[in-house]
Amino acid sequence: MKNLILIILFIFNLRPLFSGQNIYPLDSEYTKWAELLPKIKILKKQYPDLVKWEILGKTATNHFPIYAINISDFSTKNGKPKIIIIGQHHSEEPVGIEIAYSLAETLCKRYNLQENITNLVNEFSWWIIPTINPEGMYYFQNGDYDHKRKNNSDTNKNGKFDLKYDGVDLNRNYDFNWNNNDHFSPESRYFPGFSSKSEKEIQIISKFMKEKSFQLAYFYHSSYSGNFSEMIFFPWKRDNVISYDYHKMLDLAKIMQQKLPKDYEKSYYKIYSQDFAKRSLARDFIYANCGTLAFNIETCGIKNGIPIVFPNNKKMKKIVRKNINAIFASAESYYENLTKITVVDLKNRPLINEPYIFQNQKTKYPLHKTNDFGSIYIYKNREKFVKIRDISYSINDTIHTFIKK
Ligand SMILES: [Zn+2]
Repeated sequence: MKNLILIILFIFNLRPLFSGQNIYPLDSEYTKWAELLPKIKILKKQYPDLVKWEILGKTATNHFPIYAINISDFSTKNGKPKIIIIGQHHSEEPVGIEIAYSLAETLCKRYNLQENITNLVNEFSWWIIPTINPEGMYYFQNGDYDHKRKNNSDTNKNGKFDLKYDGVDLNRNYDFNWNNNDHFSPESRYFPGFSSKSEKEIQIISKFMKEKSFQLAYFYHSSYSGNFSEMIFFPWKRDNVISYDYHKMLDLAKIMQQKLPKDYEKSYYKIYSQDFAKRSLARDFIYANCGTLAFNIETCGIKNGIPIVFPNNKKMKKIVRKNINAIFASAESYYENLTKITVVDLKNRPLINEPYIFQNQKTKYPLHKTNDFGSIYIYKNREKFVKIRDISYSINDTIHTFIKK
């Protein structure tokens, strides 16, 4: 009888469950919510010189912590470029958590054994956040509801938790062009919240993004509907106007693409270049507010017309491996083409957290700031002039007394 009920439930569910390729509840080697903190603690214990971790804050409904793992050699006194990886916004997209955690583990395990990884740990400060949606992760992984996507905010305002209706789509809640959202109702899977930044998770992570001012960002998703399977997105193109750093991000996306063959087809992840941008998404928010070069990677492919978003252990690990290689390849290329400039005033004091714009920058976005050491990082050195406090600084030449390299 129980089997019969299960079969009926399967038939009435969305497409992914029709296939034997999707396993729900998840296969055995996916990280469960209860395993995440112990795993982080073990990593810290094994590699105390390379790992720090912290709780960025707690969610509003269940008071679950959001963990961040920081991997670095922690040696550079005057700062180094920072990378942020968020494994998960949407809880029915579990593969990104595995990418994030395995990335942290790989950086530690291969340090001093593999040259390129040793360099990446020495050159960058890595901030790895397996999930910013622990409430959704917990309920999704319980095996109760394979569509669980949002957090657990009581959006139908009935004073109790409704697994199938409550919650906000966290990747639509960022405080950037929030009004550009389609008008999904509170019970929709895509409900963007009653106002921008209404959700505690988004308040926590956007504050963190602005404080750290990252140079590179990787956000992981998997397309449950299959509409965006195996694609790379970055900010932005809208009404045929592209972002100031569009071509830089395109170059890096192409490097990632070479490492990302599709799961079930003989081609590669697609770089999505149509108009779909300037929204309240993590990638658009972080680029607009911090100038971070940001990528949204939709993992998991389609087999016989069915999106395989909960692959078995073996397939999941393959997806994790190639995505980590794509991060490494793009971060290496970024570093090879990087110019670091420390901006100082006439008395040779670094200008710390100072807003700046590039001379050729026609629009308000991105909003840049120098970092805690007065540094700015320029990928591919296309800019020659930068404007700070209404003073124009020339990079590498004429007013070099204002510029300390
Ligand atoms: Zn997603």
